[in-house]
Formats: sequence, C-alpha cells, structure tokens
Amino acid sequence: MKIICIGRNYVEHIKELNNLVPEKPVVFLKPETALLTGNQPFHYPDFSHDIHYETEIVLRVGTPGHSISESAAIDHIDAITLGLDLTARDLQQYAKEKGLPWEVAKGFDHSAPLSDIYVPIGEFQDLKNIQFHMELNGDKKQDGNTGLMIFPFERIISYTSQFFSLAKGDLIFTGTPKGVGPIHKDDLLELFLEGKKMLSCRIE
Ligand code: ZN
Repeated sequence: MKIICIGRNYVEHIKELNNLVPEKPVVFLKPETALLTGNQPFHYPDFSHDIHYETEIVLRVGTPGHSISESAAIDHIDAITLGLDLTARDLQQYAKEKGLPWEVAKGFDHSAPLSDIYVPIGEFQDLKNIQFHMELNGDKKQDGNTGLMIFPFERIISYTSQFFSLAKGDLIFTGTPKGVGPIHKDDLLELFLEGKKMLSCRIE
C-alpha cells in the first residue's frame, strides 16, 4: 500500500509557513514504513531537532481506480480516519531552500501515526463539514474543518489518481489546518474527529 499526502490545502496554514496558495494540489508520498498504528509511542529521531505535528483527515481507498472523475471520486473511498503527518521541519526547510525533494523530511519511519478507528464514509452527512481537532498535553492546538479545504476530497482523488493508481487500502492524507508546531519528548498528542477521540500518541 502507499500513502498519498496533500500539502498546502488550508489557506491559514499556508500563511503561517509563508507559502503561496497553490493552483494545483501539492502531492507527496510516504512509504508504508511511515505508518505507526496501535497508539504506539513515537520515538524522537536523532536526525532532526524540529519535528512538527500536522493533524490531518485521512481517506482510505476501498475501490481501486485510476484517472477517477470528480463525480465518481467518493465511491472509491470506504472510510475516514485521522492521522499525523509528522514533518522534520528543519530538513524540509533545507530541502525547500535547495530546491530538493522532501522525502526524508516527510517519509521517515513512523512519520505517519494513524488511528485504528475507521469511520465508514456513509456515516458523514456532509463531507464539506467534518470537524476535527488535536490537543497537545490537553490544550487544543489545531482545530480544522473540511469546509476550509482549498481542494475538497473529490478534487484530491481525481487529481492524484491521474498519476498514481489507487489500490484498496491506500491512504490519502488531506492536509493540515493552521496551528502546526513542534513536538517534544513526553508530549501527548490526542486527535479527535467530531469530538470522538481517535488517536493518542506519546512522544518518547
Ligand atoms: Zn501535511
């Protein structure tokens, strides 16, 4: 399986990182070894001193496809969950300055802590009004709503499936709202989808 990620999908987050609003979705991949499931702790690696959390809605592919139309896009998704797109901001900044790829800053081992809870997509009344938030040591740090996305689910699925065939079980991280920040050892990150706790991740 693969993990497709969208960057710069919320205007307020683009502003906080001094990026430009993209005309097309910004796409990158993480390898399967990036996954961290079962509410396991994340071990802070030696290669970075500035790892940031990014709380994101994650789509799970249920039906394979390629070059999917926007009108058929949602039929290819079977469930929604939450995850963290952990980012080595120092390595990413270096790569951006040099015009190099982001892979090591985004795709390192366990850079994608993921909830074990999958909510069937049919349970959502309105895909453009899904609320989610993240608490860091009990303080709400990120508060997002899919209505604030620049590129909605349909566009993300249609756009990325031109390049990457979607296989059953693939995951799509849909971008982070504003409020990203660094993690530190002993932090506890808790992710909530419409008020329901989905993931706990302790930093060690
Ligand atoms: Zn992200």
